[in-house]
Amino acid sequence: MKILILLTSLFIAGISNAQDTTEYIVTVYDSNPYTIGIIAKFSSKVDTLSIHPACPNYDYPNGWSTFIRPNTNSLDFIGDSKWTVNHKSEISYNVDLSFVNRKWDVGNEQAGIYKDSSIFVVTRALFLTSNNHEKYKVSFNLPSEYNVIAPWRSIGTNRFMVDSKEELSNNTIVWGKVSSEKIRVKDFNLQFVLLGYEHGTTRMVGETFESILKEYLEIFPETPRSDYLITVFPFEQNDGEAYSTSNAFTLKSEPSSQNKMIWANQFAHELFHYWNGRMINGPERSKRQWFSEGATEYFANLALVRSNTISEKEFYRLIEKTVGLYFYYRNRQYPEVSLVEAGSEKSKYRFGVYNGGWCAAFVMDMIIREKTSDQTLSDFMNTLFRKYGLMNRSYILEDLEREFAEFLDIEDSSFFKNYIFGIEELPVEEYLDKIGVRIDYTSYEGTAFIFNDVTADHSQIVLRNKWLKD
Ligand SMILES: [Zn+2]
Repeated sequence: MKILILLTSLFIAGISNAQDTTEYIVTVYDSNPYTIGIIAKFSSKVDTLSIHPACPNYDYPNGWSTFIRPNTNSLDFIGDSKWTVNHKSEISYNVDLSFVNRKWDVGNEQAGIYKDSSIFVVTRALFLTSNNHEKYKVSFNLPSEYNVIAPWRSIGTNRFMVDSKEELSNNTIVWGKVSSEKIRVKDFNLQFVLLGYEHGTTRMVGETFESILKEYLEIFPETPRSDYLITVFPFEQNDGEAYSTSNAFTLKSEPSSQNKMIWANQFAHELFHYWNGRMINGPERSKRQWFSEGATEYFANLALVRSNTISEKEFYRLIEKTVGLYFYYRNRQYPEVSLVEAGSEKSKYRFGVYNGGWCAAFVMDMIIREKTSDQTLSDFMNTLFRKYGLMNRSYILEDLEREFAEFLDIEDSSFFKNYIFGIEELPVEEYLDKIGVRIDYTSYEGTAFIFNDVTADHSQIVLRNKWLKD
């Protein structure tokens, strides 16, 4: 009887597993790198399918659907990233990847590239999905000598398990003759792919990535098991984009030990979005931009100096630009636009979002350090991560304001009122002074010069060193 029950429950478990897993089989051809075949086997019969709606190019009014070539009868495009398929549980289509050869205005890290006999592509362009909440199994048929490098959990050679639609279709992937480098810190599996670079740079890049990842896992020690992919390739300008469990960035010049300020910072910024932006996230996209971008850049810069990736002097060079342009924004460029409002037009108000957000994060850090003797903004970030990220809760700006007051154990939220919702100038100079750092700036020029104050006393130096170290 027991055996029968066991067998029955195994059988049911087997069925229910099969029922909520959609399988994709992706075929890559040696003869034509720009076409792939996809067979999708859905867990039940489906009528409507959709593709990821974010295709950042006005030339394609039909978005990523532009590149889908159906092999299945009655797989029809009906607009708005949607397709109908007449009650089927299996479909087959090709994807025309020739778009990776075009120059994308937003940067090809948001579309794809062909380099080193390999394709890098955003998965937004690949998968037609149903509305069912389910898991996905993705397997690849590849020519010999090809690898596939995916930001997903491996369940065998070229086979992966994907836990959500977001991870399936808002990510990046690489296949071809290139191989990846693997870094593991705690439960975080980081793979990176360098396309179009000499082999010699790999080691330096890997060591740098590892030390930055270690810094972040100290801030967020309870980060669950993660599989993450980074792709880097040369392009006309430095640019980057973060996806669900991957990021990709482009570099104007080849990575060297001299320009770590650029490429290591680019990496550090995009990787920090894994926590601040993905796990700590909320529906008010424009209202939280100053925090999502500003605190991210703040921790990226600090991770570089704290891990000795860059020197203290280089760190000051980095933040001089940031702070100088914030004063330009606040006092000259858009003195009437608050940091919250700046998120509504991210590129127009860039210096409000990124630079203002950075300065807000700095002042929040200093307020915490002043009020508590042993806490920093890192502890506040980890509190948000535990309460929201790990609990799958989204936050709105009022939550952030309340959490900050609770963390500091204060009633008054004048910080948010004055500097985030309001248009008062953030007291950057005042707080730098408290840690023995001098700043001289000219608002209308957007310039600032930052250096250690030679007259700083012992307690100021202690605070400064603590800031630069942790
Ligand atoms: Zn960002």
